[in-house]
Amino acid sequence: REVETPDVEPPPPQRRIVNLTHPDRLYWPDSGVTKEGLADYYADVWRYIAPFIVDRPLALLRCPDGISGQTFFQKNLWKGASPGIVALDDPAAGDGGKLIGIHDFDGLMGLVQAATLEIHPWGASCRDWERPDMIVMDLDPGEDVPWTALIDAAQEVRRRLEATGLAAFVKTSGGKGLHVVTPLVPRADWATVKGFTRGLAQAMASDSPDRYVATITKARRRGRILVDYLRNQRGATAVAPYSTRARPGAPVSMPLAWDELGPGIGPAHFTLATAPARLAALDADPWEGFRQDARPLEAAPPDTD
Ligand code: ATP
Ligand code: MN
Ligand code: MN
Repeated sequence: REVETPDVEPPPPQRRIVNLTHPDRLYWPDSGVTKEGLADYYADVWRYIAPFIVDRPLALLRCPDGISGQTFFQKNLWKGASPGIVALDDPAAGDGGKLIGIHDFDGLMGLVQAATLEIHPWGASCRDWERPDMIVMDLDPGEDVPWTALIDAAQEVRRRLEATGLAAFVKTSGGKGLHVVTPLVPRADWATVKGFTRGLAQAMASDSPDRYVATITKARRRGRILVDYLRNQRGATAVAPYSTRARPGAPVSMPLAWDELGPGIGPAHFTLATAPARLAALDADPWEGFRQDARPLEAAPPDTD
């Protein structure tokens, strides 16, 4: 039987535009994931991750020797970065404020070329530096906190956000916790958004002091969940949806539909190896409607300070 071959070669994969040096370098030796494997993963999830990493300041966890080598958390652009990586001039910083940005897929491949194993964006776009377009409530379990308690915490954050007219979406962190993310129409400034999130965290801690804390005091954390609102200040970052984590197993921070958040998964359940198939099998983006659901945050609720 004759095998049909197409007349025209398919276009080369986009990633070839950025030259990947050492494509066989092992970044996750425990899982056999190489630099090229990382590039392939981001090519697969590009359309999902793009809205969260394009045109916003990025901090990068760079790991040139993989997850078990030396790593550095980088917030400023460096000399010799791939051309797809662009300087974003922080308007509040004057000269020393060259932050890291990307505009397109080549930029993401530039991040891979730079051994970026975690991508941590700001909660604001560089189109409006002073007005965040999302909130991230970072739920950090202390020792001995069961997964079900973390799920309850995420549901409670969701209820409280929805009670103020805001939307709430959830993702695994790829580490130990969960992140509840709210899209905002960028109107309120950083101080207002931070004040709102502090109020929310403090309300949870004062209503359920046995379950939640709002400030990082190690002694008080065993058995409790830190409702970490400090992702929501100017210059702070949180790991991007779909970003890989520099931890064994190559976990990713995975957006979930609320009805997927159950005992069958955990904070590092989805990995670079399993995420593309999961996304392909879904009928819709797990965060369908994220941007359309954005509302402005009008004013901070009364502080419980
Ligand atoms: P986990 O679920 O394990 O808590 P996480 O990503 O939420 O995972 P956290 O320690 O709660 O981790 O959050 C720390 C956040 O602070 C990161 O998401 C990152 O954006 C930011 N950050 C600031 N400095 C660093 C640093 N040196 N290394 C890593 N992250 C940093
Ligand atoms: Mn966390
Ligand atoms: Mn935290």
